[in-house]
Amino acid sequence: MSRPKRSETEGFQTVTTVARRLGLQPQMVRTRVASGALPPATKETPSRVMLFDEAWVEAAEKAHAGGTPIRRRRAALRAPSPAAFLGYPLGTAGKVPGWGEIIAYFEALAEASDRVTVETLGPSTRGRPLIAVAVSAPENLTGPGRERNRELLGRLWDPRDRPETELAEAIARARSVAVILATQHSNEIGAALMTMELAHLLATGNDPETGEVLSRTITLLIPSGNPDGIDIIGEWYARWLGTPYEGCDLPWLYHPYVGHDNNRDWFMLTQIENRHFAAMHNREHPQLVFDMHQMGRDGARFMVPPFIDPLDPNQDPVIQQGFAAIGTAIAARLTAAGKPGVATHIVFDNYSPSLAYGNYHGSIDLLSEAASCRFATPVTVEEDDLRSGDGFDPRVRTWNHPLPWEGGPWTLRDILDYDLIAARAFLDHAAKYREGLLRDYLAINRRSIERDEAPYGYAVPPAQHDPGAADELVETLIRGAVEVGEATGPVTLDGVTYPAGTRLIALDQPAGNFAKTLMETQEYPELRRWPDGPPIPPYDISGHTLPLQMGVGAVEIRQPIPAEARTAVTPLLAVPARTGSVSGDGTWGWAFRPDANHSMLAARRLLGAGAHVHRAKERVPGLGLPSGSYLAPRPGDGATDITGIVTGAGIDVVGLDGPLTVETLEMGGTRLGIYQSWVASIDEGWARWVLDEYEIPHEALHDGDVRQGDLHERFDAILLPAQGGDDLRDGRPEKNAFKEPNAPGYTGGLGAVGMDALRRFVERGGTLITSDGSASAVAEAFALPVRNVLAGLTESQFYGPGSLLRVVVDTDHPLGYGLPRQTTVLFLKGVAFDLTGPGTVVARYPQSDPSMSGWLLGPEHLYGKAAVVEVPLGEGKVVLIGCRPYFRAQARGTYKLLFNAIAQAGSRPSRLELGG
Ligand SMILES: [Zn+2]
Repeated sequence: MSRPKRSETEGFQTVTTVARRLGLQPQMVRTRVASGALPPATKETPSRVMLFDEAWVEAAEKAHAGGTPIRRRRAALRAPSPAAFLGYPLGTAGKVPGWGEIIAYFEALAEASDRVTVETLGPSTRGRPLIAVAVSAPENLTGPGRERNRELLGRLWDPRDRPETELAEAIARARSVAVILATQHSNEIGAALMTMELAHLLATGNDPETGEVLSRTITLLIPSGNPDGIDIIGEWYARWLGTPYEGCDLPWLYHPYVGHDNNRDWFMLTQIENRHFAAMHNREHPQLVFDMHQMGRDGARFMVPPFIDPLDPNQDPVIQQGFAAIGTAIAARLTAAGKPGVATHIVFDNYSPSLAYGNYHGSIDLLSEAASCRFATPVTVEEDDLRSGDGFDPRVRTWNHPLPWEGGPWTLRDILDYDLIAARAFLDHAAKYREGLLRDYLAINRRSIERDEAPYGYAVPPAQHDPGAADELVETLIRGAVEVGEATGPVTLDGVTYPAGTRLIALDQPAGNFAKTLMETQEYPELRRWPDGPPIPPYDISGHTLPLQMGVGAVEIRQPIPAEARTAVTPLLAVPARTGSVSGDGTWGWAFRPDANHSMLAARRLLGAGAHVHRAKERVPGLGLPSGSYLAPRPGDGATDITGIVTGAGIDVVGLDGPLTVETLEMGGTRLGIYQSWVASIDEGWARWVLDEYEIPHEALHDGDVRQGDLHERFDAILLPAQGGDDLRDGRPEKNAFKEPNAPGYTGGLGAVGMDALRRFVERGGTLITSDGSASAVAEAFALPVRNVLAGLTESQFYGPGSLLRVVVDTDHPLGYGLPRQTTVLFLKGVAFDLTGPGTVVARYPQSDPSMSGWLLGPEHLYGKAAVVEVPLGEGKVVLIGCRPYFRAQARGTYKLLFNAIAQAGSRPSRLELGG
């Protein structure tokens, strides 16, 4: 940069001069001008030197008036408000920023304010940055302050072997950490926008409450736990803005895979966004988490805990009382601010660990639900339109709802106002009770560490039906901050000696509650509306035991874990990728067992590499291999690295070195379609996630594609995800429940024409795979020779809300290949069959109570009934699965039902003759 000529600078001041007058460094003036935080320079020379006149200095100095310290005045001057940044006030009808704008705002705020930093936790599913915005006093964020705070809180998270003085120091000096997880469900946009206003208020406010929050607390704002969804829903909204369809519902999922279930993934942590959040939680050790949502428009205006019963007994009692303490404080603040319609202790229980991560990791993890409008479009709800449900009537004044809302307009601005007051009350609590919260945090973690009752822990021995699934279970625990040990030699527990490689999960550790709720059997309380009356439904499922869902053998330890056992294990920080072994020479080819889920992955990769892959229809003589085992003849050209592909998927492979003749099904690359209804099915998204993990290709089919017919020419198998018959047939109605029109082009369902096309697809040789609701709907629509034995029973007679049940599987049937004879299934809605004509029962409930975990009323209605049926129709087959074989990617013990059904559809009968 060359020096400006004297004629150019005459009458102007340089950066150095104005910087001195404003009390800033010259570089800061340049940065602030560039970011828009200060007015543009009066003039810029051709060589890009900034020059300023006296009017510019006056404008900049104006903010210095008033006698507040210069540092604060600068923050106030420079930090852009969301309205100034975006050009409209947040909450304006029809206006919503995209994810890029939201990030840009926080970056501009961080640039302008030393109270704000923006951190990227990692990429979303589609590569958008998932950010956390830290807001606190500058000394808590910069330099060693932040790291020091993590270290202090880490002492309270894990106080083992710490002198009391170090813990006392941590309580005295650490800032409390409060996380606001705003819009996780992307159509519930209010909270995301609220975090922008909240961050601005905290960055610029100089009132005592703000000062206290900044100095005593580190606030971590996650504007959205699903950045992709912010743009998915934003683009959909923009498309219909200004039309009669403005604000209509999205006809597909607002998370690339799992839609609304992204907050049913808080223990399995399958989705990358949730993994980032859990890693942050594990690192920052928050005491409080506030998970902000929206609900329907015609109930309460705002809901905060206390939750209704039941709560998971594995949440520490202090956490459970914390829900009430903080929730009530938030509700009182809202009511005091004149906000009507605030309810506590309604509708929402807190039994399932799928709903929140913090409650099992020392923090009080609250939920709020604001009433919705139509995304950013206002609605009017008359008092008469308010609806009671689940034991709550929004028109009635009660102790937990003392100021009912009387109806009227409801806008995005209203949601922001409620959310903002709630968030400030939450942070006020985090700051005011800093010391008490830290003491409680220590007490919670200590109680978990000092646990001294059975079960003391769990052992996962290395010999497993599916060792890869056992690895995945242990990985899930480790991701959730659970310490897992691996035995380096024999280890004795409860008098039983386990071999080296056994994984030991002791429950007396900080994340012991997380481990326990996932490992143990749930005994859900029998809650009914009145004695012998209908059950009170759980908000989520009632049984989540992971070893049962994943088909993993885990042994509960009933006696205290001896010191020798603890020293016989080394910490397992990550589960190493499994590599399979090779035995034999493979003179004629190779074989591997069907037990592991990953054996299907190996088979798919072999097919992809051009190998021939068969599945034995019978036991393979001489090798001890069961039906369904995979056989790959040695390729003539020897080019395909068969053993490498199989062992690379973690599967052991054995050589076929002797002559062999066996009846088989030769696999092909099944052409698979997945039906995508305009009433988006979350189960459909989970199916795609699982299939992508297993590299099984698939193609989406919409109503029009199905109705077009000739499906057999394009597909071998079609999956109808779990979805009710009404949704399948009728799909999205022309108008929603409020008589507002749905978007044209995305209404209707399969209809009679679509169902007929599916029937013809089967008759011409295709395989239709159905589960739960779609199974009963297809059985009825195709008049298949089966009867749903649970149809017509009342909930008082039979009820199984997400229960884990035992079935007996025919493992010689191609759909049962690789499953254990006794398998646990996740039962959700209530479909079980009697076969009344041709067909095969693949899995059946036993002649006794099948309950393994969770709640089941009327088990006798299932005795001996079919859980999985295959029915022939024309040249094809319908697979009716009465359970949820890949439920939320948790039910990994039954993935093989899905995989086998897909594989069978692309296979043809064959006979393999080797070495003859
Ligand atoms: Zn929600």
